[in-house]
Amino acid sequence: MITFEQVSKSYSHDGTFVTALDHVDLKIQEHEIFGVIGESGSGKSTLLRMINTLELPSQGQIKIAGTDLMQLSDAQRRQSRKNIGMIFQQFNLLYNQTVNENIGLPLRLNKTYDQQKVREVLEFVRLSDKGNHYPRQLSGGEKQRVGIARALITKPEILLCDEPTSALDGQNAYDVLALLRRINEMFGTTMVIVSHELNLIKQLCNRTAILEHGKVIETLAIQKAQQQP
Ligand code: ADP
Ligand code: ADP
Repeated sequence: MITFEQVSKSYSHDGTFVTALDHVDLKIQEHEIFGVIGESGSGKSTLLRMINTLELPSQGQIKIAGTDLMQLSDAQRRQSRKNIGMIFQQFNLLYNQTVNENIGLPLRLNKTYDQQKVREVLEFVRLSDKGNHYPRQLSGGEKQRVGIARALITKPEILLCDEPTSALDGQNAYDVLALLRRINEMFGTTMVIVSHELNLIKQLCNRTAILEHGKVIETLAIQKAQQQP
């Protein structure tokens, strides 16, 4: 379980303070697909980046499985991050590296490179024929599937998704949505999905928090009946 207890985050910028998150309380259950919806600037990315300690709270506590992230040493924080995958609106692929190289990157960084694992996860996202392609040779949907494969290769228990379909058109967006759902069903991966698209949130998430100016104004359970198979 991921919990936020009275979490605030402010940035100082040219001498002025911006409050990105304001006393946020959240409980995200294991295996859940949790949405965070809000307009641009409402604090969604800040919230997501705090879960993998890319940002630290100015106030309050964030816990994963009971462990307060602020209490971790740098080494423990790096360890915690290994259990968390992240995918991005603009995919964040390395454009001078092949699909295989992009997907293998987390393993190379951990010094646990294994070509067989790259092959398996590539097959899982149905891109086996594209391993030696470069990202520029792929469609947007394929690029995002590479991003997902790169995130999955370390078998994280938590997957953070920052606007995962916002750069994609209808069919590609739908394919990525279906893939995320399949990952949750197969592996029980806990997902936190940030988006400004109500439709994506409705189709994918079990519950969603609505952020406005850094505050959670409401947390809604999403009716399963609204979700398509
Ligand atoms: P969203 O993802 O909903 O668009 P963000 O979390 O990116 O929102 O931003 C929330 C607020 O915090 C915005 O006002 C933004 O300008 C500000 N902000 C975000 N990151 C930084 C930063 N690194 N430095 C200063 N201000 C920031
Ligand atoms: P395996 O070959 O390990 O049995 P599966 O066929 O079940 O894997 O899954 C296919 C791919 O999905 C694997 O190559 C792996 O990268 C990824 N995967 C497997 N288990 C998990 C997990 N628990 N979380 C995330 N991804 C996983």
